[in-house]
Amino acid sequence: MTAVEIAADVRAGRRSARDVLEQHLAAIDARESEIHAFNLVLADEARAAADAIDASDDKGPLAGVPIAIKDNMCTRGIPTTCSSRILEGWKPPYDATVVQRLHEAGGVIVGKTNLDEFAMGSSTENSAFGPTRNPHDPTRVPGGSSGGSSAAVAAGFAPVALGSETGGSVRQPASLCGVVGVKPTYGLVSRYGLVAFASSLDQIGPLGTDVRDCALLLEIVGGHDVLDSTSIPAAVPPLLDGLDDSVAGLGIGVIEEMTDRDGVEPAVRDAVRAAAAALEAAGAHVAPVSVPSSEYGISAYYLIAPAEASSNLARYDGVRYGLRVDGDDVAAMNARTRDAGFGDEVKRRIMLGTYALSAGYYDAYYGQAQRVRTLIIRDFERAYQQFDVLLAPTSPTVAFEIGAKTNDPWAMYLCDVCTVPVNLTGHAAISVPYGTGDFGLPVGVQVLAPPLGEPVMFRVARAIEERAPRAG
Ligand code: GLN
Repeated sequence: MTAVEIAADVRAGRRSARDVLEQHLAAIDARESEIHAFNLVLADEARAAADAIDASDDKGPLAGVPIAIKDNMCTRGIPTTCSSRILEGWKPPYDATVVQRLHEAGGVIVGKTNLDEFAMGSSTENSAFGPTRNPHDPTRVPGGSSGGSSAAVAAGFAPVALGSETGGSVRQPASLCGVVGVKPTYGLVSRYGLVAFASSLDQIGPLGTDVRDCALLLEIVGGHDVLDSTSIPAAVPPLLDGLDDSVAGLGIGVIEEMTDRDGVEPAVRDAVRAAAAALEAAGAHVAPVSVPSSEYGISAYYLIAPAEASSNLARYDGVRYGLRVDGDDVAAMNARTRDAGFGDEVKRRIMLGTYALSAGYYDAYYGQAQRVRTLIIRDFERAYQQFDVLLAPTSPTVAFEIGAKTNDPWAMYLCDVCTVPVNLTGHAAISVPYGTGDFGLPVGVQVLAPPLGEPVMFRVARAIEERAPRAG
């Protein structure tokens, strides 16, 4: 059942929230030891929340809907680890704004999901607590960094989940797990209580089994928040209303640089073309479009994101949070804590970022990357003068085998070649499952939209979903 259906049933008294929850906890019991979607299952807390909803007269728009939360969002009194040893033992003293809004809407948080440490990665293999497995084939990765949230939805542990994006971490694992994943416009969803990776790129986004559930979740968690200075001072535009409206007359551009590039599997390219053809048959105007500077997205991203990360992660010094490994003096304690607490990928990013920001190299690397970022924004603005939305692959490939890319960071970074440009521009995008590719594994098609273009983006995504061949 979808979140929309569950909430309607619980509100109408046809089912109890407790009954819905027990069914999902049973699914978790049956398969979690194999999948490892969660760092922590919150069965007791969830039962108490479900019972409170059943007893309440005002059940809310998410009444009794089980939700999985990526473990980089703060939950008051409940460990929040970012899948890192450095936060060992830390319990946030407050809830993230999104968590608070889910509670208020009647949602039931079932657990905190696994991720690549501090959301750095594309496979969830960089977790300090071991990898998550893809429910479609447990020898393969679920994608990342929101691999736990994506796998939880794909495995039926929860109908919906929240993930976070810095460079594709909701859309790419959604694509690999055969679910829907959304990267909202920067500033549409509050980042208050989301542990920072790269603040100018980070954004929380919904995952679900269908487009409608993601629209519902975004309507609930999005909208202005005074606690986040980058929050857009406006409500979320209506997404559910108009979701099923016709796409006839819309202009849809297929991004050539992403669809035809080397490394995109033929089945993935075919899925994008088939989705475009289906939209054309529904009356949309479809044409190829060039966004030339998007080619440089990965290069700019791997300077900007590590630069911001090196600054954000300076706060883990053994004094304020979690782990402390003692040393002879403060500097030694600080170094030993960070050495023991951070994994290899996090250390690699801190070193890359520190180097890119260093006095002699700042202009050549960080400054240049920011100029490229501006060029990418301009290219997309030009594309949106001609088209309402754009289409592209989400991930160039289907889910790969565990271990296949762990020794080759550059190969891992290329997983995000089609998603990273949207984080750099701050625009919106959604990944929708569209049939299967190699090995019968799910393929995702991406719909990109201009800032606050979510209403039309969701409408096109819904039209694609309706016409998609079913994944095996
Ligand atoms: N895979 C990208 C990275 O490793 C994006 C991660 C993300 O979006 N959080 O940085």
